[in-house]
Amino acid sequence: MSLLEIENLTVTYGSGAAAVPAVRGVDLSLTAGRKLGVAGESGCGKSTLALALLRLLPASATLGGRILLDGEDVLTMKWGRLRAVRWAGASIVFQGAMHSLNAVHRIGDQIAEPIVLHHKAAPGAARRRVGELLEHVGLPASRADAYPHELSGGQRQRVMIAMALACEPRLIVADEPTTALDVMIQAQILRLIEQLVAEQSISLLMISHDLAVLADTCDRLAVMYAGRVVEEGPARAVYDAAEHPYGRALSAAFPRIGDVASRRAPRGLPGDPPDPAALPSGCAFHPRCPVAVAACDTQDQALRDAGAGRRAACVHVGGGGGGEAVRTPRAP
Ligand code: ADP
Ligand code: MG
Repeated sequence: MSLLEIENLTVTYGSGAAAVPAVRGVDLSLTAGRKLGVAGESGCGKSTLALALLRLLPASATLGGRILLDGEDVLTMKWGRLRAVRWAGASIVFQGAMHSLNAVHRIGDQIAEPIVLHHKAAPGAARRRVGELLEHVGLPASRADAYPHELSGGQRQRVMIAMALACEPRLIVADEPTTALDVMIQAQILRLIEQLVAEQSISLLMISHDLAVLADTCDRLAVMYAGRVVEEGPARAVYDAAEHPYGRALSAAFPRIGDVASRRAPRGLPGDPPDPAALPSGCAFHPRCPVAVAACDTQDQALRDAGAGRRAACVHVGGGGGGEAVRTPRAP
């Protein structure tokens, strides 16, 4: 059964002429106990999606659609219920641990805060739980007395994970949890997240611009472009042979794990994703697409069944568009 069901989610920042449609009709679901990766270049709407899940967006954002967490719509929840869900239902690990931790409080007190607030734990019990959580994420319990600046980047990210685990959530949303870390530490943190979600049957929604990282960690992968999911399917299949040309380009742009040649010379992805305030007509990827046909300039594609549990939004998927000549991509 689905723990998380996102239905036709739209998020627009601002309004009128200045409106930025950052998420444009996303449908995704996550089965309890499974791991879903969301990939895409910077600006594609990944963080907006993550923040929407717990209604953490600024007041300038207008939301549409539904976000069902265990069948309950997060977007229409009352505040009291939302507060409970934010800790015990789902919690978020962000990229910049240094900015999410309070510099003037000991980390033990920061981890204890939700435990005390949410579980009404007594100080002694909360302190024991903090020690346990720190050991769980590979830090000695004595580090509870440290201030954030006394920890390395990797240690701070471990603290963030301990905080996310504090109230035993059913879902963890990790937005670029390792992007700010160096490669060795990145691998350690990824293994830690994998191990913890497996041990505690927590569901994981992990966001990254790095498809290789997600393919290695997640069961399923969704690829976002210009606020839409353009491809979704089993992680390995999407990474190895994406149906959507953007998925293929993204996969080729990152060094493959264990493949030294590609690590030395990643192929790169020319150009930039479009500004959501000024989207191209038709398929938003067509100006960069190596296999675009004339119809792509004017016709947007919906996600459709691509077989084998996969979906993709491309004119070439499911037999369409094959008759037309492929154009050379316009210089973005
Ligand atoms: P990603 O996480 O994939 O890099 P984001 O969700 O952060 O993408 O951003 C998607 C788009 O929304 C970008 O064009 C970004 O500039 C815009 N955006 C993000 N936050 C805001 C905001 N608070 N106000 C206006 N626009 C925003
Ligand atoms: Mg982001």
